[in-house]
Parts: sequence; C-alpha cells; structure tokens
Amino acid sequence: MIDFSFTDAQLELQRKAREFAQQYMLPYAHYYDETGDFPLPIIRKCWEAGLMNLAIPKEYGGPGLGVVEQCLVVEEMAAGCAGMTTSIYVNSLGVEPILVAGTDEQKEKYLRPLTNDLKFASFACSEPYMGSDVAGIRTCVNKEGDYYILNGSKFWITNAPYADYFTVFASLGPSKRHKALCAFIVDADTPGVKTGPPVKKMGHRASATTSVIFKDAKVPMENMLGEEGHGFRIAMKTFSLTRPAISAFSTGLARVAMEYAREYVNKREAFAQKLRDFQVIQFKLAEMYMKIETARVLYLKAAWTADKGEDATIPASVAKAYATDAAMEVTSEALQIHGGYGYIDQYPLEKFFRDAKLYQIYEGTSEIQRLILGRYALDGYTPAMEKSPSWRAKGKPDF
Ligand SMILES: Cc1cc2nc3c(=O)[nH]c(=O)nc-3n(C[C@H](O)[C@H](O)[C@H](O)COP(=O)(O)OP(=O)(O)OC[C@H]3O[C@@H](n4cnc5c(N)ncnc54)[C@H](O)[C@@H]3O)c2cc1C
Repeated sequence: MIDFSFTDAQLELQRKAREFAQQYMLPYAHYYDETGDFPLPIIRKCWEAGLMNLAIPKEYGGPGLGVVEQCLVVEEMAAGCAGMTTSIYVNSLGVEPILVAGTDEQKEKYLRPLTNDLKFASFACSEPYMGSDVAGIRTCVNKEGDYYILNGSKFWITNAPYADYFTVFASLGPSKRHKALCAFIVDADTPGVKTGPPVKKMGHRASATTSVIFKDAKVPMENMLGEEGHGFRIAMKTFSLTRPAISAFSTGLARVAMEYAREYVNKREAFAQKLRDFQVIQFKLAEMYMKIETARVLYLKAAWTADKGEDATIPASVAKAYATDAAMEVTSEALQIHGGYGYIDQYPLEKFFRDAKLYQIYEGTSEIQRLILGRYALDGYTPAMEKSPSWRAKGKPDF
C-alpha cells in the first residue's frame, strides 16, 4: 500500500527545523546576504540543535538519519535562508563519499570529530576547467612510496576556507578519464594545500566559495577511499544520494517565495481591487502551488528510493531537474507579483530569485540531469508494453 504520511519522529524533526529556520535563519538572512559574511554563529546554533551531519551513523556519534529526514530538514532551512543552508548541508556532501566508500577506520577518524564538535568537511570535485564532465578531472595524483602526491586546483569549493578536511577527486592519468579517477580524504592542514579568497556570487552569499590548490600535497595511502579507479563511481553514487536534498532545498525556497506572494496579494491593491481578486494572480498562485507540491513528491520519491538502498540516480535526476526549474519559475513569478517592490531589497524576493539560480547549476546542472534522463529513456528504461504495435496492423475488431 502506498502511504504519504510521515512518522511522529519525522514530523517532530520537521517542526524543529522549521522553528530553527524561523528563529535563527530568516531574521538574519538579509545581513548575511548583504555582507557575504560566513554565518558561523548560525551554523554553530544549528550544530548545537542537532540539525547538522544528519547522515552520520549512530556508531560514529551521529543520528544516523535517512535521506528522507535530511530532505525534510533542508526544505525547512532553505525556506529560512538558502545560502546558510548550503553552508550547513555541504558537510553532508563532504562526508557522503566516506559513507559510500570509507573503511571503518576512516569513518571513525573522520566522521566522529564532526559529531564531537563543530567541524567542516568540503567536497572538492569541480575544477577551473571542469565541472560537468567529472571524468575530465585534471588534478593529478602520483604514487610515491606510502603516499599519493596531489597536484592541481579545484574551484567553487563550498566552505573550503573553514574545512577541516576535503573529499577530493583526482586522476592517475587524465587521458584515461573515469577509469583513472581516485577519491581521497585530504586534511586541510596538509602541507601544500591552500585555499584562495572567497569569490563574489550572485546568490547564496551566506556560503563561502573558494579555490583549493594542491602543490605536491602528500596524502597517506590509507586516506584513499575505495581503490584506485573507483573515484568516478564514488562521485556518482554520492550525487545520487545528495541530489534529492538539492531538490528539497529548491522546494523550500519556492515555498517561502510563494508564501510571501500570498501575503502580498492580500494587502496590495490595483485598479481599486486587492491583487488576490484578479484571476490572473490566482492562476499564478495555483501554478506555484502545483510546482511546489510536485517538487516535494519527486524529492520524497528519490529520497525514499535511496533509503531503501536502491540506486536513486534516475529519481534523483528527475527530482533535481524538476524542482530546481520550479524554484526558478516560482521565485520569478513571486517577484513579478510584487511588481517594483520585488526588484528592490525591501522584500526578499530578489534574493530568493538570485538564490534559486544556483540550484540549476551545482551538483550537476539542469542539462546534465537531462543528459542522464535522456540516456535512460533511450537505453535504460524498460517499455511497459512488449513492443509498440504496428499502428495499422488490424482494422475493425471481429469479436
Ligand atoms: C556557488 C557554487 C558552489 C559550488 N560548490 C561546489 C562544491 O562544494 N564542490 C564542487 O566540487 N563543486 C562545486 N560547485 C561547482 C558546480 O558543481 C559546477 O559549477 C557545475 O557542476 C557546472 O560545472 P561548470 O561550472 O564547469 O560548467 P560546465 O561544465 O563548463 O558547463 C557549462 C554549461 O554547459 C552545459 N553542458 C556541459 N556539458 C554538457 C553536455 N554534455 N550537454 C549539454 N550541456 C552541457 C552545462 O549544463 C552548463 O550550462 C559549485 C558551484 C557554484 C557556482
């Protein structure tokens, strides 16, 4: 039987995250958006509230929650501030390769400290000349005795200046593409590892984004995740587990934009009528609501698939492609409903619009999701009918 209800524990977690977003995120979102400061006090509160690092298993000190629970939490938080939520959630992205491929020793050494204290883990895959084409990674790794030596640079790495360690993807030979990719845990204080200055961004300004440079950085052999050549698989598995959350981010952001629009149409008048009385406006709200509802169902299906231990690649791409477009459309329409006020920072609509754009870019662009889905529709999908019948094979039934 299909069931759309949440457990009491899930509802309680959702309530806690919603309260946190209302108390600590939304009221400070303007300040961090304007200044671009790193929201350390908010992140610390989040860590203290037990709303961070949710996937870390109980045996390493974490709550051991599933993807569904993580999604419920980030939907609430993204409604509070998308940028802060990126800063908070990136720890989950940073540790996912360890959850996917780490040994017990690696998990004990690198997961437990995140639950004992506020610490940061960053995910370092993208590079200045490579984002979508993960197999095209140019950061090189060479084996020397008991160490791997890393050389190259990563770009757009969220929280990099604050990271205690990075999960890094590098190549034993870029011409061998995905077959040569390896994944490592690299301590941020390793000699030869440096981060660049924060880059200025259109949105998500409450998150710090910088380059990470590796110059003859010596990484102990025991810090490799999986085996040589497993890096590509680890990265793809990671994305299948984290993309549902990006869809949940998008849902939360779209939801808060719709709620602002809903309030505004109840008070703003034009042509001696409340905006809410125009059918065009009602239809806009109807479209927003449909998109938010659909995005939520899709991210929950992707998260549920992942939590069952099944491959969530396809539902995660469906959810990410749909929900991130929905966030862009809903924030744009919510801004439009505010007219000129939507365009200035008296209301948060222009921030929501700027923040929504990133969802279509990071963790696999909208085009990459469609590339995955196009391949699946052509080669992976099993048709429901045995064979499409010849259209004119039979005429009038003779029974
Ligand atoms: C604020 C921010 C934070 C980020 N945080 C992180 C992080 O923490 N860690 C990390 O590793 N990365 C991070 N990224 C990087 C992000 O994942 C990449 O920007 C993204 O994957 C796209 O890569 P790219 O920018 O190199 O674009 P490209 O790959 O150069 O793509 C450019 C355009 O071409 C399209 N395109 C590319 N290939 C195809 C194709 N085969 N078919 C059709 N269209 C195609 C893309 O969709 C895009 O529209 C972050 C980025 C930003 C902006």
